[in-house]
Amino acid sequence: MKKLTLPGKILIALISGITFGLLLSCIDSTLIKQTILIDGILKLLGTGFLNAIKLLVAPLVFVSIVYATSSLKEIKQIGRIGLKTLIFYITTTALAIILSLIMANIINPGKGVHIDIVTTTTDAVTTSTSTNLIDTLLNMIPTNIFVAFSEGNVLGIIFFAILLGISMTLIGEKAKPLVDLFEICNDVLLQVISLIMNFAPFGIFALLASNFATFGFTALIPLLKYVLGTIFTLCLHLGLVYMSMLIFIGKLSPMIFLKKFMPIFSICFSTASSSAGLPLSLKTSEKQFGVSPSVCSFTLPLGATINMDGTAIMQGFAVVFVAQMYGITLGINDYIMVIITAVLASIGTASVPGVGTVMLTMVLASVNLPVDAIALLIGVDHIIDMCRTPLNVAGDHICTLLIAKSENALDEFIYNDLKTSKQTD
Ligand code: ASP
Repeated sequence: MKKLTLPGKILIALISGITFGLLLSCIDSTLIKQTILIDGILKLLGTGFLNAIKLLVAPLVFVSIVYATSSLKEIKQIGRIGLKTLIFYITTTALAIILSLIMANIINPGKGVHIDIVTTTTDAVTTSTSTNLIDTLLNMIPTNIFVAFSEGNVLGIIFFAILLGISMTLIGEKAKPLVDLFEICNDVLLQVISLIMNFAPFGIFALLASNFATFGFTALIPLLKYVLGTIFTLCLHLGLVYMSMLIFIGKLSPMIFLKKFMPIFSICFSTASSSAGLPLSLKTSEKQFGVSPSVCSFTLPLGATINMDGTAIMQGFAVVFVAQMYGITLGINDYIMVIITAVLASIGTASVPGVGTVMLTMVLASVNLPVDAIALLIGVDHIIDMCRTPLNVAGDHICTLLIAKSENALDEFIYNDLKTSKQTD
């Protein structure tokens, strides 16, 4: 019998985790459901897996960027790649929010939803807007690199790693042993990912099972149009914007992309965190998409931190939803304001579960919509978060592939080789 490949096992974990979780949600016994399974076995497997991949984010981002920067032929290349990446990220996020506003005005998710549901749940709102744009920018320059590491401050780590890598290039021959050392460390960390990924099917199963077992499906009913409309728009952005870019600009096969992206999708879907997907993203980009580390080790960590098209789509939908629910008509100026603030909010959103909804307060407030309405959306936020996070990360990969192609840093032979998607190393 043919041996099951890792992506095959992950797919089975995805389907069986959701099914098991749904079955579990029907069980009444608190002892079996909550104590033994959700807070016991599933927590151990799911959180154990999540901790193991989070453990890798900071060292991998640091080592891969230092290595990539120190092996660049010309320093100017960093500036060029950085500029292209920023333009790409901001443009696609703006497109995402425009698409979302158009779709929301066609689907009308908030018409017929009653405001009284909101007032009963207002207590649940957490309107912390502590992560604003200025803080994000200042976070890029840490005062203490050890604090940046211990807090998982990816932008700060990127900044320090680039400085270090550039300095190693400038020193030249003398720094060669250090460059070699970083190359070895990079390979070792990629190998650690392979080891952890062997455990991915169990981790993904456990995370999904406990999510779906505790998910309040009754919250879905009044918001079904909002949830399905948002998910439909996420798919549309993937199909319409990303896949056309891949086909027409990159001249690359979308089928191959989707196939190789599947394990990353599963991790982001089950964890609702772009940063949890980052270690595997870096490895897949280099080993399976054929992108040179000189490109992907900048674009992917940066993208995981600042590029959130899925989050922007949710925010666009939520704005129209809230306006319709309160019977408020938005004018063209309001829509322009929403586009600008959602792009900024997406840059400021941390790549962990639920932060996109906290940042939604800023977008709603920018057009004077009642922030309290978020109380209603929080009930269904996790399911949307699970769907928007893989799109956030897919955008980072599309950008990486297109930039790599334009920089002659893409090995299309590796990209087109489907054999690479079957293995983990
Ligand atoms: N969970 C999202 C991410 O990590 C952020 C958000 O939209 O809340 O990409």
